[in-house]
Amino acid sequence: MKITAIDTALLTVPTPQPMALQYPHHKLVVAQISTDEGIKGLGYSLSFNGGGAEAVHTYLETRLKPALLGEDPLYVERLWEKMFRVDMGVKKQGTAAYALSALDIGLWDVVGKAAKLPLYKIWGAANDRIPAYGSGGWSKYSIDDLVNEAQKYAALGCKYYKMKIHHADPAVNASRVGAVKKALGSGVRMMVDVNQNRDVLGNERQARLLEEYDLLWYEEPVLADDYDGYAAVAARIKIPIAGGENHYTRWEFKQLLDRRALHFAMPDVCRANGFSETLRIGKLCAAHGVQLTPHLIHEVSIHVVGALSNGFLVEYMDWAPPDLFQEQPECKDGLFRIPDRPGHGMTLHPKALEKYRA
Ligand SMILES: [Mg+2]
Repeated sequence: MKITAIDTALLTVPTPQPMALQYPHHKLVVAQISTDEGIKGLGYSLSFNGGGAEAVHTYLETRLKPALLGEDPLYVERLWEKMFRVDMGVKKQGTAAYALSALDIGLWDVVGKAAKLPLYKIWGAANDRIPAYGSGGWSKYSIDDLVNEAQKYAALGCKYYKMKIHHADPAVNASRVGAVKKALGSGVRMMVDVNQNRDVLGNERQARLLEEYDLLWYEEPVLADDYDGYAAVAARIKIPIAGGENHYTRWEFKQLLDRRALHFAMPDVCRANGFSETLRIGKLCAAHGVQLTPHLIHEVSIHVVGALSNGFLVEYMDWAPPDLFQEQPECKDGLFRIPDRPGHGMTLHPKALEKYRA
């Protein structure tokens, strides 16, 4: 099989309410891989809030696409290495990793369709029903917005809800968490997300005020680059640490795992160099007793979680408009059932390119 064309596009997709209170849109870099056997693969990378998507699109189009044209798409491992080694002077994070991710996801879609199997089965299935946690809780939400969103996910059966704690005053964050916890009752466990916004002492103070809520995890306490800071927070607070949405490779996760700074790992398949590297990260985590709960992109991340015995939850943040994809997995009883369609099972809606092209 040979790759004959890769058609790329940059889409701007509006966010649904209430997320639109915080972010009006996201951008999607799309790569559709065509082959000489008629099999097509869809890859994409989600740029949350749209930042940097133009650079990702340009890097993919001008540097990685030429590396794949004419190659056999079934040799994903070899092609991953080839893409990762393009432009050795460019650090393989951010822009380059988002671009590589979109193509790796598209290559695996081709493999699944050629094998006529869903990806989680190709990778060695562990589960076909993946529990989801509701996620959102942005800082611009009022208490009512927070409670309404949390209850919407609870009504879908989600047993977990995650909210942001971005206020400069830790007491304000604690009271917002407390209000949501009270509304949700004991049937839903909560997590909080710092999004890298505090230092070690600030996290210690914040976490102490949250101890009474029996949180499942405390996410991204310090800058992703600050591995020793992560380790210090993990040693000082009583709530388990989650992180990884801004870590891009197995080597970066190794920094966290070696320091015992992580209890839940959250690679993002659109950032962490695609399905290939996310699976490697997941297996590395298994060696450290760390569970995998990928960041966002639940509609395809379910395959990764379904393939690994240390796969735990997917993050259900309702980011895509209903006419972006032909079909989206549905959350029932707090679970996504992985579709049996070959590949990752996602196809763009026939009118999506025309409607959302930037
Ligand atoms: Mg997060």
